[in-house]
Amino acid sequence: MRKIALITGANKGIGFETARQLGKLNYTVLLGARDENRGQAAASTLKGEDIDAFFIALDPTNASSVANAKKTVEATYGLLDVLINNAGLFLQEDSGLASQIPTQVLRDTYDINVFGLHEVVRAFWPLLIKSKAARLVNVSSGLGSLSLHADGMFPEIQAIGYNSSKAAVNMMTLHYAAIWKNTPHRANAIHPGSVKTDMNKNGELSVEEGAKTSVDLATIGADGPNGGFFHLGKRMPW
Ligand code: NAP
Repeated sequence: MRKIALITGANKGIGFETARQLGKLNYTVLLGARDENRGQAAASTLKGEDIDAFFIALDPTNASSVANAKKTVEATYGLLDVLINNAGLFLQEDSGLASQIPTQVLRDTYDINVFGLHEVVRAFWPLLIKSKAARLVNVSSGLGSLSLHADGMFPEIQAIGYNSSKAAVNMMTLHYAAIWKNTPHRANAIHPGSVKTDMNKNGELSVEEGAKTSVDLATIGADGPNGGFFHLGKRMPW
């Protein structure tokens, strides 16, 4: 039987390519997207590549949209094997001196990157634990690493909303993973790399390379890690 994978923000960018790569590995892929037209178009592109792909209306920032998506997955499949929390936002207005960034920029960023992610985890958790071996992948960022910032790795980048939201994602991942200690389930955070997408026009990696770490952690076996932070097979510093 095919495993069932749900990817949020899958209508484009890294999420879309993650769905494609998992689909090519014979997973049934549910492409979560907030916009029906964009989501349907993405799913039909993958169907055209012989992938078992379906659009699912899912806006992580809207609790009733999340609840409806959960009901649909429950009624159709009864469980969920893989959840990839990929939807995310980096606002232009977040660039500049941290002390000057409007609080609303942080609110809008946290709404999807942090609160939306948790809403999706909360809703789908009962379906994940029905899987024999659930895989939860949270798409974080190297910019969320407290230790890289403390070591002065990002002197020129000031994006207090985005960076702190991804630091929160890392901490949340450790909390989810702690629940799954000594179980067959695994929860990990990943850094996709600097990937050329609408979010990052100057990205260095292709979306194919950018999706690889999500796919790796979604497909780890029983000996795979739980509660780690990874990029292309290597551990990232928290
Ligand atoms: P992208 O091409 O801009 O795609 C972002 C996806 O998230 C889209 O499907 C978008 O939906 C969805 N999304 C954004 N804001 C949303 C909101 N408020 N509510 C619901 N959905 C929303 O970006 P990407 O580069 O592929 O990013 C994917 C993930 O990788 C993000 O979590 C990002 O933080 C992370 N990441 C990216 C890079 C990079 O270099 N690209 C580096 C590190 C981490 P719409 O199309 O409807 O807007």
